[in-house]
Amino acid sequence: MRELRHVVVVGAGAAGCVAALRAAALGASVTLLEKEEHGATIERGGGWIFAAGTRWQAAAGIADSPEQFAADVQAKNGCTADPGVLLALTRASAGVAHWLADEVGVPLVLESEAGRPDDPQLTHRCLVDREGRGGPGFLALARGACAHHPAIDLRIGTGAEGLLVEDGVGGGRRAAGGGRVVGVRAAGGAEVRAAAVILAAGGFGASRERLARWIPEAAAMELVGGPGNTGEAIEWGAALGAGLAHMSSFQGHAQFVKGALLRLSPGIPGAGGIFVNNRGERFAREDVNYSAFSLEIARQPGGEAVEIFDERIRAAVEQQWMMKVARERGLTTTAADAAQLAAQHGLPPDALAATLVAYEEACRSGRDPLGRTLLREPLRPPYHAARIVPVLAHTQGGLVVDAGMRVLRADGSGPIPGLLAVGGTMAGLSGDGADGYYSGNGLLAALSGGWLAAASATACAPAAAAR
Ligand SMILES: Cc1cc2nc3c(=O)[nH]c(=O)nc-3n(C[C@H](O)[C@H](O)[C@H](O)COP(=O)(O)OP(=O)(O)OC[C@H]3O[C@@H](n4cnc5c(N)ncnc54)[C@H](O)[C@@H]3O)c2cc1C
Repeated sequence: MRELRHVVVVGAGAAGCVAALRAAALGASVTLLEKEEHGATIERGGGWIFAAGTRWQAAAGIADSPEQFAADVQAKNGCTADPGVLLALTRASAGVAHWLADEVGVPLVLESEAGRPDDPQLTHRCLVDREGRGGPGFLALARGACAHHPAIDLRIGTGAEGLLVEDGVGGGRRAAGGGRVVGVRAAGGAEVRAAAVILAAGGFGASRERLARWIPEAAAMELVGGPGNTGEAIEWGAALGAGLAHMSSFQGHAQFVKGALLRLSPGIPGAGGIFVNNRGERFAREDVNYSAFSLEIARQPGGEAVEIFDERIRAAVEQQWMMKVARERGLTTTAADAAQLAAQHGLPPDALAATLVAYEEACRSGRDPLGRTLLREPLRPPYHAARIVPVLAHTQGGLVVDAGMRVLRADGSGPIPGLLAVGGTMAGLSGDGADGYYSGNGLLAALSGGWLAAASATACAPAAAAR
């Protein structure tokens, strides 16, 4: 009987579930370890999947390509992503999306609602769950598929605590910085041996200590991503000599309602919404992406802002799931005029009225003193609004990988045998800092990354380590 290759996947979030399912489909047996039932960022995410060259695009007559997708990502991050890795991910994206729909049962459709401030065209390759279940729905479906797969041993509540490394593999020569990774040490001390280990453990946004070291500007922000993203897996790779890159990279968010752990639609600024600070003044152009804008808010007095939109914009985004929840929970206010809006949010009424008049003038003239170029119609009463705090969604720095998601040594001597990294654990696609995030980068690295890592782990790994 043919012996199955055994693969360990660390982390059962977006990337880990895809890696496990794909490795199993390719003939491996898989141990999928998850330390925390609700530790995943995908469970708190929008779940909008960006993919180029899909059948949904074809049906809608949209011309797109993996090369164009990669070019758009690079245009946003200042051309800082490894071109080979990025292209491998974008080339895989359509196949992954079709497989998710056909094999995993995620009912994907093209997102056709309001665009994003940084690029209204993004909707042309954005796929969403037809039922509007977002990231939580995706995780439920993907974990459910893992739980029912006969070749996957999903262990929720069992974390990995370190890598098992064998020296002398490959002709008795110890490779620089470490030998072959042959498994993991699981919680409780058990060793799970494998032909390959895929680190799909997310980033380090839940570790204050690691944030202070790598992204001090985000260390004080509230985390809205997964609490299981504590970053130890990145350190395990580094300890074996792996390269690290883009450690300062993170996705911030600029539309989370204060105290509610819920964001308003990312489409609001693009459709004409504005933000004012506690002085009632606009402070930065709003037509940059929400990640970059999170730092603009953090710099304002009190580190907060009020997002303002009107009835026209509300109608454009009201079908989005987060807007339905916001409505149910009464998270936005409605004011008949500027004076009432100011009173509702403790803003100086004269300054706020002047701001609205100035914005109207900018829309009319097409010239905004703050440099906003996406100018739509002026805001008209009644006004809708919410108080917003900047938050940290997820970090994107991590282990340097090649196009097969194999972890590379920092000294240039090639991959660490048996070790792969994906999603938030790998070096991301958004450059450094907060403003290189192109919407969809998170799940591109996680889903396409998981898919590619599974292929590497099953194709290249030597057969059969015992469980
Ligand atoms: C509010 C919000 C909205 C977002 N919207 C989008 C979007 O619309 N589109 C998009 O592309 N991206 C979006 N993102 C980002 C996207 O969700 C993440 O990039 C993606 O979920 C990362 O997937 P992952 O599998 O790498 O990490 P996760 O989904 O966080 O999974 C990692 C898992 O590993 C587990 N783990 C960690 N350490 C260990 C260990 N030692 N042992 C065992 N298990 C471990 C964790 O508990 C966790 O469950 C959003 C993020 C947020 C916060």
